[in-house]
Amino acid sequence: MNFIRKLPIPQKIKKQFPIPKESALLRNEKIAQLQSIFRGESDKFVLIIGPCSADNRDAVMAYLEKLCVVQEAVKDKLLIIPRLYTNKPRTTGEGYKGMLHQPDPASRPDMLKGIIAIRELHRSALIDYGFVCADEMLYPENHRYLSDLLAYSAVGARSVENQQHRLTASGMDVPVGMKNPTGGDMHVLMNSIYAAQCAHTFLYRGWEVHSDGNPYAHAILRGYVDFSGKCVSNYHYENLIELFDLYSQTNLKNPACIVDTNHANSRKQYLEQIRIAKDVIYSRNHNPDIRKMVKGLMIESYLEDGCQKIGDNVFGQSITDPCLGWEKSEKLIYQIAETVI
Ligand code: PEP
Ligand code: MN
Repeated sequence: MNFIRKLPIPQKIKKQFPIPKESALLRNEKIAQLQSIFRGESDKFVLIIGPCSADNRDAVMAYLEKLCVVQEAVKDKLLIIPRLYTNKPRTTGEGYKGMLHQPDPASRPDMLKGIIAIRELHRSALIDYGFVCADEMLYPENHRYLSDLLAYSAVGARSVENQQHRLTASGMDVPVGMKNPTGGDMHVLMNSIYAAQCAHTFLYRGWEVHSDGNPYAHAILRGYVDFSGKCVSNYHYENLIELFDLYSQTNLKNPACIVDTNHANSRKQYLEQIRIAKDVIYSRNHNPDIRKMVKGLMIESYLEDGCQKIGDNVFGQSITDPCLGWEKSEKLIYQIAETVI
């Protein structure tokens, strides 16, 4: 390993790119709303929606401008948390690693520019549009560069069995969604939620730290890949009942779940997200236990349908997983708002 340069610590970057007081208060309010949904005190439905990767600042801001109008129209029913994923896990390790590594996807990695770019993106979402967003905690040691901005964090399918991810999640004050692992083992998933809900003492960024446990750690169902390489979905009524039964055998706080409509649930057939979202709403409306447990959906959506290769330069089209384009996304959000109870 070659050590290239020492990077500023999160405290320094936070001072350099601060959050105005009123924006910080707004974030607190939104987080309180989200927490009350997870406690079952509010029956609003959560939509974590946005591109697979937030690869281009201008396109993401244009997306948020449209999303903001829809959020205002559905605010009595839905709490929208934009999905601004600035770090991307890769199945083979190859390919675009997200804005954190490559603020310009066509150029070489630049970690300093990357840290600033992801902070500026999340900061603009809050200051310009009043959105508090979700990101994946792919690298726990980087979490504090955004810890005063995020409203939701996800631990990905490839990371959910990792100790440092679980311990860091246990010290966060926002809901953390633990994805089922790529192989689909539900016990690994339940263990990760348990670990994140417990208090821990551990080593973090050169410090001895203590966490109190995160009572809002919960499950995200994203489908899985079986031993023969076939995608198996886990958003169906029976899967939700199975998760409810697993939760019932534990003392976990705020038993909750978000259903990811893309990835192995859709086999990345992004248009299937529309049907899957409606299927989950149907299951939820049918059974009060499921209604209580399923707090929302995670949808991959961007300005344009589908995906492209880096360098094709279609504005607002995903360079990672294929996404639902804006018109279809907007229609789907209104349909969800109308049908969810
Ligand atoms: C994603 O949300 O884009 C993603 C990579 O998810 P997962 O960890 O479920 O593969
Ligand atoms: Mn994706």
